Amino acid sequence: MTNNTFDVVIVGGGMVGLACALALAQANFRIAVVESSTQEQQEITAACPFDTKVVAITRASENLFKNLGVWQKIEEARLCSYKNMKVWDSALDGAIAFSAMDFFERNLGHIVEQSIILWALQQALKEHINVTLMTGAKLGTLEILAEHVELNLVNGKQLKSLLIIGADGANSLVRQLCGIEIAGWEYEQSAIVATVEGEYSHEQTAYQRFASDGPLALLPLASSHHCSIVWTTSPEEAEVLCRETPERFAERLTRESHFVMGKMRLVGTRLAFPLRTQHVKQYAVSRCALIGDAAHTLHPLAGQGVNLGFLDVAALVNVVTEAKKKKRDIGTLNTLKRYERQRKTHNQIMIWMMEFFKRGFCSQSNIIQRLRNVGLNWVDRHTSIKQLFAKMALGTLGPIPPMARMRREA
Ligand SMILES: Cc1cc2nc3c(=O)[nH]c(=O)nc-3n(C[C@H](O)[C@H](O)[C@H](O)COP(=O)(O)OP(=O)(O)OC[C@H]3O[C@@H](n4cnc5c(N)ncnc54)[C@H](O)[C@@H]3O)c2cc1C
Repeated sequence: MTNNTFDVVIVGGGMVGLACALALAQANFRIAVVESSTQEQQEITAACPFDTKVVAITRASENLFKNLGVWQKIEEARLCSYKNMKVWDSALDGAIAFSAMDFFERNLGHIVEQSIILWALQQALKEHINVTLMTGAKLGTLEILAEHVELNLVNGKQLKSLLIIGADGANSLVRQLCGIEIAGWEYEQSAIVATVEGEYSHEQTAYQRFASDGPLALLPLASSHHCSIVWTTSPEEAEVLCRETPERFAERLTRESHFVMGKMRLVGTRLAFPLRTQHVKQYAVSRCALIGDAAHTLHPLAGQGVNLGFLDVAALVNVVTEAKKKKRDIGTLNTLKRYERQRKTHNQIMIWMMEFFKRGFCSQSNIIQRLRNVGLNWVDRHTSIKQLFAKMALGTLGPIPPMARMRREA
């Protein structure tokens, strides 16, 4: 094997690509990660400002990180476990409250800064000599041959592997070069993310207020008065909100959040993301598989996107490792179709569920508003139905690949 030949090349060193690299490295594959950005994450100390980009991490993702040996690093760096969730409708008086205690759980999930997840994965990867992390390296073209793939990077370097994994995000070049079709739609909504400080403590509660222009989420951070917000609204309104003075923005947020944390103050920058849903028609072709946002993106209202990506990782690594154990070629379509069968339907169901919530909660129709109100209050009185929603937040609804299950103590 030469130094440009690998078992697997992963294009994209975001959260999903790095998690996949670590899982494959631990299974003794020879890996290269091709990542276009050059930024190496720095260790976070308590004095560091909060990252504007955070994600709600489910129990299944927590289990995956535990099994990969990086959860302790993440926990020690900084996170907030949320024990309660309050969801309400701004049009009428429908509301649901969840508490982890009602379901005999220690929490309903964790809010983690993206930079901390990336840092923990990068640190763990440094311990593996079978991983080559190429930063500042961009994929240019690729050629799929019968027995291997050849990749040409923009910097002129050439790589060869049995399998290429596209973890290069929503606008995946790997997907385009492999001719994999994708279907989806724009929401005509943008989500503004920012860190804010409230007058009152968040008390480890994740708040979500639904309104016709989109949901507003307050996600608790490691400091008791700080939250990360995801404020969804029309693209025009998002532009206005991002241009407002910090004081005016905070005033509007205080009102829009119905004073649940009292008077708000903006801390740091605001970022806006246009929202869309998309899902590939195939997860794999011969010698290539897609994972994470390269395969699917969905509305962030229930914080599921990257969690589904981590489940893709667990399923794909399982399939590829099994193939290696049985001395089969890891890149054949036969092998990779097993991965697609495990993930496509589950991801499609989550996309439909998000669409159902998005349409239901954004509808201005009087009838739908009333139905929604009755529905919310009805669900709030029925623990068994609430348990289904809690399972969704915990990521334990549907099939979970072994690597994302809790490991039994020996
Ligand atoms: C407002 C908002 C809130 C969200 N909140 C949540 C949440 O609470 N919980 C949750 O689960 N999900 C959430 N998501 C979704 C989540 O952020 C994404 O699912 C996740 O970031 C996808 O990770 P990824 O690694 O698949 O892709 P990306 O993060 O997009 O990473 C792709 C990587 O590939 C690299 N790359 C791209 N092209 C190339 C190339 N040609 N060559 C080399 N490298 C390349 C990029 O530099 C990047 O590092 C949210 C999304 C939004 C917009």
